[in-house]
Amino acid sequence: MESSRYDVLIVGAGLTGAVIAYRAREAGLRALVIDKRPHIAGNVYTEEVEGINVHRYGAHIFHTSDRPTWEFVNRFAEFNGYVNSPIANYHGEIYNLPFNMNTFSKMWGVATPDEARAKIEEQRAAANIDEPQNLEEQALKLVGRDIFEKLIKGYTEKQWGRDCTELPASIIKRLPCRFIYDNNYFNDRFQGIPVGGYTKLVQRMLAGTEVLLDTTYRDFEAEHPDTAAQVVYCGPIDEFYGYDLGQLEYRSLRFETEVLDTPNYQGVAVVNYTDRETPWTRIIEHKHFEFGTQERTVVTREYPADWHPGDEPYYAVTDDRNRALYEKYLARANEQGKVVFAGRLGEYRYYDMDKAIIAAQKVADHVFARAVALKDDAK
Ligand code: UDP
Repeated sequence: MESSRYDVLIVGAGLTGAVIAYRAREAGLRALVIDKRPHIAGNVYTEEVEGINVHRYGAHIFHTSDRPTWEFVNRFAEFNGYVNSPIANYHGEIYNLPFNMNTFSKMWGVATPDEARAKIEEQRAAANIDEPQNLEEQALKLVGRDIFEKLIKGYTEKQWGRDCTELPASIIKRLPCRFIYDNNYFNDRFQGIPVGGYTKLVQRMLAGTEVLLDTTYRDFEAEHPDTAAQVVYCGPIDEFYGYDLGQLEYRSLRFETEVLDTPNYQGVAVVNYTDRETPWTRIIEHKHFEFGTQERTVVTREYPADWHPGDEPYYAVTDDRNRALYEKYLARANEQGKVVFAGRLGEYRYYDMDKAIIAAQKVADHVFARAVALKDDAK
């Protein structure tokens, strides 16, 4: 460490921490970034295997409709023209995602939007749902029984470890449903994968900022108390407070990655396995994110997993109990003032990357206004 005094200590070298560190440098503030992992980039970390950028903590596809955010990320990397068009595999039957005319035509042999709407309407009427009370009812209302049974039910129950009748309708609202022949998974204006991988992008954001890896906040604080007047903490808020109000719940994931001696295993980057019996939810073939032409390929099977303390927390389980508990921790943080919680874990939210960046920019605005004021006071 260069000196014992920094304006901001940022805990977490992932996307959120890196954006805040970059903004600190821009504002002329001294930031120190620490991360408990042996590498930067958090869950967007990519590492090269067989010349292919492998997304070690799950596939990340950048997409946004916010032009300033698109321009912001393009400062750090060139984005390729990848468009996400995943495939669903239901007991070997193949469908296009998201739900669109290609899906409907394969499911029912229909050809026109009117025919597809009529089919969904017929199944919707049979389900007789006005105000959906849970994910199952929401799905039946949106796309009818066939699509629910083949493309939603099994996948969702594997993913969340609960019955679709016990899950909030909001989860399924993320998925587009459209009556045109268009397999683009996202409705956003801008989309792509950073050429060279996400690690490089984050590295560029962090250029010129001091980063300590393999360093937990607890150990660091014990050795260097009060290193900075302000702390931005991108880890779980309940962990920060020693779980003394109770534990927040998460869903976890397990990844199995293998190198295969074939140039093209599944013909697309993402295949969702939507039946209940296949134990994984999806297989990622990483080279297709970057139109790779390597002789071999790397695939990752993604298995949903219950979360126990010590496991990687991937998804917040934002039901009423957890929300209320989070609010209690947050109230304490706001009272104490010195630590700001940021990012997917700190804010206990599901964030797409663009939303994480937008939120990080807001945290930076807020924290740096204070940091500059503290600096002026000290003069
Ligand atoms: N989903 C589904 N079938 C699919 C893909 C997604 O039913 O083939 C549902 C599932 O409930 C999932 C949610 O849509 O949790 C959001 O999926 P998405 O792929 O957008 O989320 P990700 O896990 O990739 O962030």
